Amino acid sequence: NNLPICDPIRTKAIMNRYLGFAKKNLGQNFLISLSKINDILDAADIKADDQVLEIGPGIGSLTEQMLLRGAKVLAYEIDQDLPEILHNELPQKIGDKHLDDVFKLVMKDVLKADFATDIGDFFNLTKPVKVVANLPYYITTPIIFALAKSDLDFESLTLMMQKEVADRLAANSGNKDYGPLTIFVQTKFSVKLAVQVDRTNFNPSPKVDSSVVVLKPLVEKFNLGDEKHFEHVIKMCFSQRRKTLNNNLKPLVKDKQERSDLIASLDLPDKVRPEQVTIEQFITLANKLK
Ligand code: SAM
Repeated sequence: NNLPICDPIRTKAIMNRYLGFAKKNLGQNFLISLSKINDILDAADIKADDQVLEIGPGIGSLTEQMLLRGAKVLAYEIDQDLPEILHNELPQKIGDKHLDDVFKLVMKDVLKADFATDIGDFFNLTKPVKVVANLPYYITTPIIFALAKSDLDFESLTLMMQKEVADRLAANSGNKDYGPLTIFVQTKFSVKLAVQVDRTNFNPSPKVDSSVVVLKPLVEKFNLGDEKHFEHVIKMCFSQRRKTLNNNLKPLVKDKQERSDLIASLDLPDKVRPEQVTIEQFITLANKLK
């Protein structure tokens, strides 16, 4: 078959033959643009001998192009209808290698995955692993949390998601999109908005546009101290976004004067709103509340 899987005609043929309809409840929207896929794989810097962990390969649109670039791919998928498609439709030989040598499918809910165990006998763990995924939208943030909390130190995470969520990951303090998700991600990763992908590049076409972000682990990590405590403080501080930080801190610090002193000690005005507080200031705040 000369057309790539992501070609709209081939995608339609595969769906007609095996699936009928994409499963909405699993967030299935298959990419049908080779040029967008190339932009995504360029952003992820995918090249020969790379080790890539993919989440949700679907019918293999991204997977195929990664394999053709010479990467080794381990993919998590939950839809039991897809192994047959992937094994039939992906190229059986890539250069002088057989598909099974360069592609491993793990049929598992990615949120229940133990990455180190699953990849251990397929990847060389002394070499870097990149994550590439067109994420199922209904679990975008849980997947990001799971990847961020994993023991594995990924080289980079190139993730496609709903544009609005990507904007939250990349936001700066003072911006309306800045919030707990921004802070959580930016304490661990640098965030780059890399590719815009509008809804017409998918079959079926979703109701929203998408963006691809590239996350790279920070070289100089923030010292969060007690991470659970930090996350709790951040959640409390943003519990009512339109109210002042002082107001949101009430459940944590009963006394009003004490709250005002605390805020002043961060060099912030008493009426500051949570979205105006930088990550460094939140870390100081969490430490003082400990
Ligand atoms: N990578 C393909 C592409 O770009 O065309 C498909 C992406 S589609 C947006 C998301 C994929 O994630 C679907 O194949 C879906 O079945 C899979 N998926 C959904 N929930 C999952 C889960 N909990 N664990 C693993 N895969 C999941």
